[in-house]
Amino acid sequence: MLTVRHGCATDVGRLRPENQDSMHAGHGLFLVADGMGGQPAGDQASKLVIAELTALAQPISRPALEAGIRRANDRLLAEGRQDPDRYGMGTTLSGLAVLDTDQWAVLNVGDSRVYRYADGRLAQLTVDHSAVQALVDAGLLDARAALRHPRRNVVTRSLGTQPPPVPDIALRDPVLGERFLICSDGLTNELSDAEIGSLLAGAEDPQQAADQLVEQAVLAGGRDNVTVIVVQLEGIE
Ligand code: MG
Repeated sequence: MLTVRHGCATDVGRLRPENQDSMHAGHGLFLVADGMGGQPAGDQASKLVIAELTALAQPISRPALEAGIRRANDRLLAEGRQDPDRYGMGTTLSGLAVLDTDQWAVLNVGDSRVYRYADGRLAQLTVDHSAVQALVDAGLLDARAALRHPRRNVVTRSLGTQPPPVPDIALRDPVLGERFLICSDGLTNELSDAEIGSLLAGAEDPQQAADQLVEQAVLAGGRDNVTVIVVQLEGIE
């Protein structure tokens, strides 16, 4: 049995007319979905996927989590076929789930992210499914240049596609005191890892940490919707 404390915050930012990010935090499930811009109904896509996963019976098994992600993908496709205004809708999905084995499942489809913060160090746990990440992996682009690359918003894996995307799912044993950050790219496009790490170090309370991260991302430009969940492991029984 894991005892966690969490905080969460979201903001539309300074440029976008609406917030197409959705999130869920609580009951062993912490999820951020970033509805895809440039496509119809991004906000509905992200909401649908979160709703599908929060309906999973607790405690969640790994196969049930995988099936839930698959079902969410099918539902986006089905609803898109029925309604031309929503045809092609899609979303990213990143998060953390407490499994029935008392392990964390770190999951990702797209370019939202999960980080771990422990012992004063911030580590990115997920790998973006994006065009620029593919260039970085191939040694053709460094991480700094990736932030300004014209194709930085192009995701190579998302929910709402056929064939269904294969989610990255990694299991981790819990470590007392560790913190996780789940966020949409509206955070990481505005703040560096060093800035994110120092904000996490300075805010004891996870809600305060989430509020400050979102506030700083908006101050730094707020060019996209920003969503942040901070999860803190307080007890293992
Ligand atoms: Mg975004």
